[in-house]
Amino acid sequence: MRKLILAGLGCACILTLAWTAADVPKNAERAGLAGVVTGGEVADITIPVAGIRVVDLKDNFADARTGHMHGALDIMAPRNTPVLAAVDGKIRKLFISKAGGITIYETDPDERMIYYYAHLDHYAPGLIEGKVLHRGDVIGYVGSTGNAPANSPHLHFAISVLPPTKEWWKGDPINPYPILTGRGVTKSSSALPLHPAGAD
Ligand SMILES: [Zn+2]
Repeated sequence: MRKLILAGLGCACILTLAWTAADVPKNAERAGLAGVVTGGEVADITIPVAGIRVVDLKDNFADARTGHMHGALDIMAPRNTPVLAAVDGKIRKLFISKAGGITIYETDPDERMIYYYAHLDHYAPGLIEGKVLHRGDVIGYVGSTGNAPANSPHLHFAISVLPPTKEWWKGDPINPYPILTGRGVTKSSSALPLHPAGAD
């Protein structure tokens, strides 16, 4: 009898694990955004570090970090390389955190997604919450603030699907790698305007 009970518990555990795996990312499913996750229906996206090409990107989305899955891409670049708005949208939140350092949360115009930029050295001049952004605008500069190693500056870039309640910190991360490699556009440093983002 005890053996039967133990076998039953084992099955329940396996079923629970399988159900949990299939349930991610739940906000994307709820919002009907499966197409966004897998690519296709969204327009071009600017690779958010100047001069970085598709071949320079590494898929470290599922890497283990202390106590959690990474859930973002780390894009390595020299300190003070311009960080660019990936999509048209607006600044939802400027936030300083212990882990992310100097960060930006951008939403698309429909507030379906959050684009998160972390470990910035500093913001672009004139950046304020609510500011309208155009794809490719300079919004900050690569750095190592927060918990990034000082000798390996990089942009921590995440794309999350917002819940219906739209809290900027509650997004459900999707992997930016297939999105950026599928339709990412490189903007070179030399092609950047000399004035700061939105100064016109
Ligand atoms: Zn990271």
